[in-house]
Amino acid sequence: MKEQPILPNRAATFQIVGERTNVTGSPKFSKALKEGDWRACIAIARQQVEAGANLIDINVDEALLDGETTMVTLLKHLASEPDVSRVPVMLDSSRWTVIEAGLQVLQGKGVVNSISLKDGPELFLERARRIRRYGAAAVVMAFDEHGQAADCEAKVRICTRAFKLLTEDAKFPAEDIIFDPNVLTVGTGIDAHANYARDFFEATRIIKKTLPFAKVSGGVSNVSFAFRGNRPVREAIHTAFLFHAIAAGLDMAIVNAGMLGVYEQIPPDLLTLVEDLLLNRRADSTDRLLAYAAAKASKATSVGPRPETLAWRKAPVAARLAHALLNGIDSFVDEDAAEALELLKRPIAVIEGPLMDGMKIVGDLFGEGKMFLPQVVKSARVMKRAVAYLQPFLQAEAQERGTGARGKVLLATVKGDVHDIGKNIVGVVLGCNDYEIIDLGVMVPPERLVGEARAQRVDVIGLSGLITPSLEEMVTVAREMQRQEFQVPLLIGGATTSAAHTAIKIAPAYTRGPVVHVSDASRAVQVVSRLLSEERTVFLEEVAARHQRAREDHEVRARLRRMLPLPEARARSPRFDWEAVDIATPAKLGAQIVPDLTVSQVAPYIDWGPFFLAWDLPGAFPALLQDPRVGATAQSLYEDAQRMLQQIISERWFTARAAAGFWLATSEGDDVVLYDGNTEGRVVDRLHFLRQQAEKPAGKPNLCLADFIAPKSAARKDYLGFFAVTAGAEVEVLARSYRERGDDYRAIMVQALGDRIAEALAEYVHRVARGWCGIRENLTVAEILKEKYRGIRPAPGYPACPEHSEKATIAKLLGASESVGISLTESFAMTPPSSVCGYYFNHPEAEYFGLGKIARDQLEDYARRKGLEVAIAERWLAPCLQDTSSLGVAA
Ligand code: SAH
Repeated sequence: MKEQPILPNRAATFQIVGERTNVTGSPKFSKALKEGDWRACIAIARQQVEAGANLIDINVDEALLDGETTMVTLLKHLASEPDVSRVPVMLDSSRWTVIEAGLQVLQGKGVVNSISLKDGPELFLERARRIRRYGAAAVVMAFDEHGQAADCEAKVRICTRAFKLLTEDAKFPAEDIIFDPNVLTVGTGIDAHANYARDFFEATRIIKKTLPFAKVSGGVSNVSFAFRGNRPVREAIHTAFLFHAIAAGLDMAIVNAGMLGVYEQIPPDLLTLVEDLLLNRRADSTDRLLAYAAAKASKATSVGPRPETLAWRKAPVAARLAHALLNGIDSFVDEDAAEALELLKRPIAVIEGPLMDGMKIVGDLFGEGKMFLPQVVKSARVMKRAVAYLQPFLQAEAQERGTGARGKVLLATVKGDVHDIGKNIVGVVLGCNDYEIIDLGVMVPPERLVGEARAQRVDVIGLSGLITPSLEEMVTVAREMQRQEFQVPLLIGGATTSAAHTAIKIAPAYTRGPVVHVSDASRAVQVVSRLLSEERTVFLEEVAARHQRAREDHEVRARLRRMLPLPEARARSPRFDWEAVDIATPAKLGAQIVPDLTVSQVAPYIDWGPFFLAWDLPGAFPALLQDPRVGATAQSLYEDAQRMLQQIISERWFTARAAAGFWLATSEGDDVVLYDGNTEGRVVDRLHFLRQQAEKPAGKPNLCLADFIAPKSAARKDYLGFFAVTAGAEVEVLARSYRERGDDYRAIMVQALGDRIAEALAEYVHRVARGWCGIRENLTVAEILKEKYRGIRPAPGYPACPEHSEKATIAKLLGASESVGISLTESFAMTPPSSVCGYYFNHPEAEYFGLGKIARDQLEDYARRKGLEVAIAERWLAPCLQDTSSLGVAA
């Protein structure tokens, strides 16, 4: 057994909560639990008690286990072990039902970990009352409806509010309240995180002083997460952290008792560095501690980098910089840049010499398909770091760079749209190829865009957008450029853009300059370089010819397309035998907040295929990881993603939220009417859907989503569901902060993961909602991702329901802006961008389909149903509208 840590005087009453019996903290415990090896589980618990734990934290939240049963079985086993059963148990789960199952079998006084105000005061108080009935104490996390408290003020404010509610409303004994004001990670390199430890100490001090009898606890390992892999440094951080926290009044902490040292025995140089970091005493404390850790690591053979991987460090500096750029290694870049500067004297010579030479190789390899996007983005990070190092010297030289750049490119996501991963990738890729990028961000109005382009005398403008209304926005920008007599090339990119739409709708609006659709980021460099080279004329002829072909093609297809008049399309709707249809009845009606969502819970539902697509690595997952061409890149990208995902989970970077609910509904033509409660009395709202209008082969119906809901005449109670989920606003905050630090790789990574988590949430919550409707299924996650479940969850903006404004109704019904924090832009894009919303149709035969084109009569009918001006409906539906302008005939 290890020497007991010597803690400050108050430490006599300090309680250590053992954390090894926690599946997220201990792989060994997780394995034992999954194998049902109860003896091993008991042994881990016993070792902790022997190592000095005063309580043990038990967490069995593991996607593959049935939480309730596992908790109960484990507790029963532990109760039979005298050495373990003498210490109290802290029941730790993100799922209330697991905690409650544990409370029912626990002997003696238990502690619940945890409750919070995350889902509002009602749920919080309800749970507190139940805990009180079991006579247990409760850990109260400093979370509220807006997320986790990071700074001292928020920690104290939320804990104070919780204290009042608990003691006054729930009559909860104050001495049974244990606040956890969130131990957050320091040393991440993000400025906003630098004061996290001090905020914790300060908040502890205030809480202890102002909230009588309440206790304060914290999970210590989190604080040092940035230094994982370096045990001595982590141990020193934990020990010093506890020292200061206990001095501030900390009563207990969840720690790995084996990872605590003795404060007085921390080497003085290390202690200074660690306390600089924890007490936020200097701006470079992270770098200094990292340098210390790296120096120690290179001496210790076990943890240091393998020697052969460092052979390249012996090469001359230019070769080292090239190697670093090609391999995306940024750990030596400052010293190499310094050496190159010494050698070449002028910073500009370093940039335009070895750095640009290295980037040129990267650019060439990328162009030849021998390097892939994730690698290029990592190379760009090395380049940016080197340039950042040289920046102060550049200024001293008063020489503006940029004259050397190959051209200026202005990038923007159009008005009403908030999606920018694709645009950011294009910016990085072009930046790597020595173009100067002026990125105006998201939701950029046309006036600002055109004004900046003029003021900055840019050479190319690139527009990006994800949702269909953005297509119309792009036409507006094109018109404005035409009006202001621009001639610079206009590039169009983003998920819903297409070569056809660019040729047919955007290019005709801007005839003074070239308009080019860029299908993916890797094509951007080629397009821009051809546009700005002597090849330009040839290239433009190619583009013009392509546009011409697209327009002719479109015209021919439009001529061949036979559209039905709306009444006829409606007459061809599918017929269901409503008496026989199996309708799933939800147990509850109206908006429900899905409580206790965590990223770790939904992570198994992540569909990784689209993740690789976001990085321009298309292919089926996981086969892609073995692909002879891109396998190695995909594998390393996947590892980086997993690492960040673990961090997102353990440090609670995101606050995932979801609301969903069902309403009694009847279809009325192409509308669906929703009622209050379970009788067709008061109408609450009305949804508007569109019907396929193109003539179909005999026997094939013209579909509309409303067809899957029973009409009034069927005299059956049917239900339509809605959902809105988000990975949270933190996704963008973190992405921005990474970008500001020149780390586009992590910026794009965090956004790509944010999107994946939002989709996974949608999948998870859909499963929960099917449960509400009593739909029994026995599906694996893989089958769920293949949509093998009953029903569909179409999302506005997708092919069956391409009109986005219906999201406003969904948001209103679910109270999404208050309950989950999702709001809509003027084009009905959701913010935060990592959000998904849509409908649940439980009809067993419900299927996805594409609306296709609609004719003018349906457009006018739709405008009438929604009470819109036709001109507005036309704008919203422009991409779906059968274009008859070139035909000269009415459809
Ligand atoms: N697992 C994927 C799911 C997203 S795309 C991911 O992680 O990215 C599939 C979703 O798009 C569906 O769940 C549905 O919400 C929507 N969708 C697909 N086809 C649709 C259609 N034709 N009409 C409406 N929505 C559709």
